[in-house]
Amino acid sequence: MKPANNINCPLHKTETCAVMHMRNCKRCPVPQQGVVSRDLVEDVALFSSLLPVDGIAKLFESGECTLCKGAKGSSTGFAIYDMAHAEPKRIQRKSIFTTQGRSGFMVPLQFACCKKCRGRLLWLEYLPMLGAILGVAIGVLLTISEAGTVELKAAFPALPLVLVAGGLLVGFLLGHAIRLILRHRWKKQMYLDIHAHPTVAAMESMGWFSVFGGNTGRLVLTKRRINQGLGTATDAELSAEFWPEPDFDACNNNE
Ligand SMILES: [Zn+2]
Repeated sequence: MKPANNINCPLHKTETCAVMHMRNCKRCPVPQQGVVSRDLVEDVALFSSLLPVDGIAKLFESGECTLCKGAKGSSTGFAIYDMAHAEPKRIQRKSIFTTQGRSGFMVPLQFACCKKCRGRLLWLEYLPMLGAILGVAIGVLLTISEAGTVELKAAFPALPLVLVAGGLLVGFLLGHAIRLILRHRWKKQMYLDIHAHPTVAAMESMGWFSVFGGNTGRLVLTKRRINQGLGTATDAELSAEFWPEPDFDACNNNE
């Protein structure tokens, strides 16, 4: 991969380049040579100003789980929560997800996540569906078993359908009920309500909202983190030594 090493770029070695974190000049929206708009530099500075003071890199750089409360497990993957901001108004685009109007910036919050928290999130997501599948399986087993006499089956021709549909409904509701109980128990051990997480709360107070709109706290589980684009640079990359300002003059000479 060709790194971000184009010395002809006016943004070379600038903080703007580090924050954009494209990692490869070929993928960067900045032209390889020529004019860099001041709007872009200002937008990137605005993005940085809209983040919590201690940044968001610590979420994915942490070797410990950032979703655990109290004793923290070691990180084995990531839980990603996508957030959006109404700024910058100049580049507002219509999001296919959010119901909170148009969004400008989008950023993935990448929480380092332990095996235990990952397992809990998966159980909570799939329990109602697992309950329904199990309910249907029991309904089918009862239908094809010898349970119920021939007379009973003759008297109620719809019995198999009732057993399967009933199994589906009871299984789903039972799965849902168990999920509520587990959720209540597990929320003492981890940030199940993502809005209560200190970083998310700090972001929300600065105008960020869920990309999925409303109160959705959906987390996407992954083994590898996203490592390109706004909000993905490490603290070390963001605190390197930079040229003080983008070199617009050099760029204009290239025109
Ligand atoms: Zn954890």
